Amino acid sequence: MSRIAVIGAGIVGSAVGTWLMGAGHDVTLIDADPDGLPTSSGNAALIALPEIAPLASPGLLAAVPGWLLDPLGPLTVRWTDVPALLPWLLAFLASATPAHDHHVRAALRSLMKTALADHQAMATRAGTPGRLRQSGYLSVHDSAASLAATQREAERVQKALGFDFTVLDKGAAQQMVPQLEGRFAGALHQPGYWMVSNPLTVLRDYQSHLRHKARLLAGRVTHIEQGDDLAVVLADGARIAADFVVVAAGVWSRTLVRQLGLRVLLETERGYNTTFNALDWALPMPLGFADHGFVATPLVDGLRIGGAVELAKPETPANYARAKAMRDKMRRYVPALPEEGGVEWMGRRPSTPDSLPVISRHPADRRVLFAFGHGHLGLTLSAVTARMIASLVAGGPDFPDFSITRFQ
Ligand SMILES: Cc1cc2nc3c(=O)[nH]c(=O)nc-3n(C[C@H](O)[C@H](O)[C@H](O)COP(=O)(O)OP(=O)(O)OC[C@H]3O[C@@H](n4cnc5c(N)ncnc54)[C@H](O)[C@@H]3O)c2cc1C
Repeated sequence: MSRIAVIGAGIVGSAVGTWLMGAGHDVTLIDADPDGLPTSSGNAALIALPEIAPLASPGLLAAVPGWLLDPLGPLTVRWTDVPALLPWLLAFLASATPAHDHHVRAALRSLMKTALADHQAMATRAGTPGRLRQSGYLSVHDSAASLAATQREAERVQKALGFDFTVLDKGAAQQMVPQLEGRFAGALHQPGYWMVSNPLTVLRDYQSHLRHKARLLAGRVTHIEQGDDLAVVLADGARIAADFVVVAAGVWSRTLVRQLGLRVLLETERGYNTTFNALDWALPMPLGFADHGFVATPLVDGLRIGGAVELAKPETPANYARAKAMRDKMRRYVPALPEEGGVEWMGRRPSTPDSLPVISRHPADRRVLFAFGHGHLGLTLSAVTARMIASLVAGGPDFPDFSITRFQ
């Protein structure tokens, strides 16, 4: 049994802590704001197993210039933040090549292969089965060209992972989702998607499991001491000695990593959403509006509409006009959505330029481990990440595709 300090109680840190505790370790989870609503609390709830395409694909770059012209569109950059974002943006553009695309797909495929089984094992460990369900996913397309592009991607995913799909005309899509109206060309249905009942519920499940059976401390970690004795130091001066430290602090991991003398490219792709809790109708499955970069997911207790990408510094003030823009667009397809009400939220996806997470050891200190940079897939990959970190703790082999050394 080892003493393990995990920094960050978002979904990644909480999953890592839960898995390590189940493996018999003495776990202390530390978060600056354990009762807060981090990115992990308000995401779209999807276990997006078929999503293995990197964001910086050659195809996406062709669409970017058009999107950037719309400040409320699917992808925007806070122009005043560009100097700070520049190294990340340059690496992002450089990774939009066919060779990178191939590499990232192979790496994500290896994670997706066990991601669902790992979620199921995690639910057993946390004593919370029943929060997962196979929901399927319907992507809705404005044009035949956009539908054909998604079909090509679905064919690649089918080859890589075996997930089925069906292309539907407008009428068949409306039969599947009776709320769908408006102008669209067709849809593509993928049964391989799963969902959690509500991401906040799952996060709190893991946290309360750790709070009661191990330790969940409130405190901001200022640095990691790497002497003969490894320790995590908090802002109030408290020192937590450990045999291993896992850095799982979302985008803020970069500060801790830099203090350890390493370089990492990690920025926030912010996303916005609105959740309606008192509707008298429910979508039968999650919908994605492929030409507009947002999704609508039926949570167990509401409907959540959101997504899109805003590249900005973590501390830049939120622009909730983006949440409203997605609600307005959604009403074109689902007029039943109310014009007023709902709770708006903004989250910060901790993103690497090549869309691969960091799940690795410190190259010079095997006691320090990294689990961050999960971008759009943090919920999806939380359990498989936890299993991989447990393997590293147990002395297992490195995972070269997910190593921090790819930034050095
Ligand atoms: C709109 C939107 C929709 C999304 N939809 C999906 C989806 O459907 N499926 C999916 O898989 N992913 C989705 N994501 C992505 C997913 O939410 C993220 O990848 C994931 O939440 C990242 O989790 P995390 O634990 O790494 O980070 P976070 O949730 O940001 O947690 C990090 C934690 O670290 C703590 N912390 C930071 N610094 C310190 C410090 N120095 N000391 C102590 N604690 C610290 C913070 O307080 C925080 O609690 C979505 C994201 C957004 C924004």
